[in-house]
Amino acid sequence: TTLTGAQRTFVETLCSSAQSLMAILNDILDISKIEAEKLALETLDFDPALVVREVVDLLRGSAQAKEVSLGFEETTPLPALVRGDPTRFRQILFNLAGNAIKFTSAGRVTLRAKTIAQDWKHCRLQFEVEDTGIGISRAQRATLFEPFAQGDASTTRRFGGSGLGLAISKRLVEMMGGALAASSTPGLGSLFSFSVRLGLPSTPQIEVFPPTSVPPAPAIMAGKFRILLAEDNDINQLILRSYMEKRGHSVVVVANGVQAVAAVHAVEFDLVLMDMQMPEMDGEEATRRIRALPSPLGGLPIIALTADAILENRPRYLASGLTGFLTKPIDWHQFDQMLASIGRETSPLPAVALVTPAAGRETPLVDESQVEDLQAMISSGPWAETVALFTRNAVRAIAEMRAVDHPRKLAGPAHDLKGMAANFGAGRLAEVATTLTIGAHAGQIDTALMASLDALVEKTTAALLALEACGQGSNCSDLGQPPPKG
Ligand code: ADP
Repeated sequence: TTLTGAQRTFVETLCSSAQSLMAILNDILDISKIEAEKLALETLDFDPALVVREVVDLLRGSAQAKEVSLGFEETTPLPALVRGDPTRFRQILFNLAGNAIKFTSAGRVTLRAKTIAQDWKHCRLQFEVEDTGIGISRAQRATLFEPFAQGDASTTRRFGGSGLGLAISKRLVEMMGGALAASSTPGLGSLFSFSVRLGLPSTPQIEVFPPTSVPPAPAIMAGKFRILLAEDNDINQLILRSYMEKRGHSVVVVANGVQAVAAVHAVEFDLVLMDMQMPEMDGEEATRRIRALPSPLGGLPIIALTADAILENRPRYLASGLTGFLTKPIDWHQFDQMLASIGRETSPLPAVALVTPAAGRETPLVDESQVEDLQAMISSGPWAETVALFTRNAVRAIAEMRAVDHPRKLAGPAHDLKGMAANFGAGRLAEVATTLTIGAHAGQIDTALMASLDALVEKTTAALLALEACGQGSNCSDLGQPPPKG
């Protein structure tokens, strides 16, 4: 029926309220699915440039309403068709571009896309969303990708939103084998950038790729590997992935054994790096399941990642079909040797020798040269964010350690803490965590050491932050943008 003016206003208000609620509900559903590891990506063929244009079209209205110009530049051509999840891909772009418009009152929002790598079966595409808006302070950037994080208390009132968009986008990007990073100069604007690894459909593009008679392993021939990393700790994920991607390998990261087995089914890999202790399904069981697959899948080299210093489990691991071992923290020289030996041989390689930490010297609070290596390796996001991730994980592990109802149960989280600390060159924290782990195995908790943990984490964090270097390979340049002033 015809509505009066007032009725129309009411209905329009109802409608926009319903839409806001719907958006919040969808975000909450997404984040809980992601946290429950129940979010699965679809595999469909789609035109990536078309999706970007659709996002631009959808947002054109809100940009025009604010006199913000909105553009799309395809820096290098994108493949005509890729294989992946177009809905989730659109969601990431929509979130970033939507935020860019929301937090810009005048100027430009630019979307950029380029192909940064491509082989016969996969491509890596990079996307940027740049705005000339209010920008993001350094402090805010530390928690930017955390669920429910918003600029300040006034953000919800002024701009709406739930603070979930970036957290969801980050995880979606990671599920697509990439990383999401932000850089910003407060008052001048922000730049969000991410890359995703997508499949390429084989038949329609047969001409552009090498003919099928060419041996189908260009990745191996060039010394570049397609690597599956199964690792549940996000710091270890970040470090290992950064290291491998810097060397030109393409990496898919999964967080448990179930996902690892599924990934081996879905994507072709040259190598699997398998953490042994993972939730849901551990590395041993996942290895056994992969070995049970028909060849060539069942014959994939699988290297165990383990923080077991004693390695009493080693015979059992070998029995489950593992090809070799690397101990955490990873010795990169040994890691490279392992990759080289896989490139040469197709038969199982000998178990990689173990490195034991150097003994007999005073353990520094943080090992500066190890931290420098780490900074050079990690290319995603500012150093402070990486350190914040470390601190959060350490604090979480310590909280878990304090919550145990039996001394022996302390071993698990203490062991996690040790691995994390060792990766960050946080020698003293690693040492304390090791002592606690060993004690826990014997059914003992050293309460004085436990009490010293908070202060030690605080000191370690400060020492790590103080090591922010602006030299070559560091993160001070934040994606090539000038560092924020002041
Ligand atoms: P929401 O959009 O619901 O606020 P997001 O997770 O998308 O949640 O973003 C979290 C916060 O990050 C925003 O509230 C805002 O403070 C900040 N932010 C995100 N994108 C930008 C941007 N392009 N410019 C300035 N601030 C931004």
